[in-house]
Amino acid sequence: MAAGMYSLRAGMKTTIIEKFYPGGSILLTERIDNYPGFPEGVTGTELAEKMKNQYVRFGGEIVEGEAEDVSFGDDGIRIRLKDGKEITTKALIIASGSSRRKLGVPGEDEYTGKGVSFCAVCDGAFFKDKKIAVVGGGDAALEEAIYLTRYAQICYLIHRRDEFRASAYLQEEIKKYPAIKPVLSSVIDRIEGDGKSVRKVIVRRKDTDELKPLDVDGVFISVGQKPNVEFIDGKVEQNPGGYIMTDYRMQTSVKGVFACGDVIRKSLYQVVTACGEGATAASSAEKHLSQLE
Ligand code: NAP
Repeated sequence: MAAGMYSLRAGMKTTIIEKFYPGGSILLTERIDNYPGFPEGVTGTELAEKMKNQYVRFGGEIVEGEAEDVSFGDDGIRIRLKDGKEITTKALIIASGSSRRKLGVPGEDEYTGKGVSFCAVCDGAFFKDKKIAVVGGGDAALEEAIYLTRYAQICYLIHRRDEFRASAYLQEEIKKYPAIKPVLSSVIDRIEGDGKSVRKVIVRRKDTDELKPLDVDGVFISVGQKPNVEFIDGKVEQNPGGYIMTDYRMQTSVKGVFACGDVIRKSLYQVVTACGEGATAASSAEKHLSQLE
C-alpha cells in the first residue's frame, strides 16, 4: 500500500493485485504497538483499512486475483493471474509478503483446522478456558501467546532452545501472564487426537530425548515465515531461503522489477520498514520509467 501511494503520487498509473484483502499479515496481528503515529497502538485491521483508504483516496486501483506467473518480453513484464487474466506493465513491485512455516511433524497436517492453527487472531476464540500450546520463540510466538491468554486457561510456550529469540520487551511481557508456561529446550515430536480434534502433543526434550505428553486442545504454530514467491521463483535472484535479493533502491536482479516488505532479504521485518521500502521501490520504479522514455 505504501508503494502504491508513492507510485500514484509520482503520477504513475498504479494497480495493486490482491488475492485476499489488503493488509497481508498485519490483518493477522491483533495489536501493533511499534508503528509510529499511534501512541495507544492500533489494531492490525484498523491500520490495514486506513492504508487501503489512503491508497484509494489517491486514485489507486485494486484488482482481485492471485499472481501465478511472471514473464519478461519486449512489450514489458507480463503477470498472469490464476483466473487466466494477464496484466502487462513496465515496472513491477513485488510486495507479496511471507507465510507461516510448518513444523513438519506427524499430526500437523491431519489436525490443521481441527486444533492446529497458524493464526491466533483468527482461531483464538475457539479455545475459551482450554489448554493450548504455542510453538516458537520469536516475536510472533510470544505475541500470540500473550493474545491467547485472553481465551486459554493454560498456554504452554514450547521453544526448541533454552532462550527465546524474541525482543527483550516481549520476553519481559510474558512474565506478566501466569497462564503462559514456557517449555524450553523442547520440540513437538507429534500431535495426537481422536480423529476429530487435537487431544495432546508429545514433547521431546532436546537434551535428554525424554518424551512427555501434554494434554492440549489446540496447537498454534509460530516457527517463522517463508517468502511468498511461487509466481516468480527462480526468475529473480533469491537467497537460499527464497527471499528476494534487492539493492538499496529495492531493485531486484531484473531491470524494472522491484521488491519490498517481508518478501525480501533484510535485517528487520516490521511494518515500518516495509512501508519505507515500498516508498523507495515506487520512487525507483518512477526513475526506471523515466529512463525508458
Ligand atoms: P522468527 O523471528 O524467525 O522466529 C521463529 C522462531 O521459531 C524461532 O524462535 C525459531 O527457533 C523457531 N523455529 C523455527 N523453526 C522451528 C522448528 N522447525 N521447530 C521449532 N521451532 C522452530 O519468526 P517470527 O516470530 O514469525 O517473526 C518473523 C519476523 O517478523 C521477525 O523478524 C520478527 O521480529 C518480526 N515480527 C515482529 C513483531 C513485533 O515487532 N512486534 C511481531 C511479529 C513478528 P530459534 O530461535 O532456535 O531459531
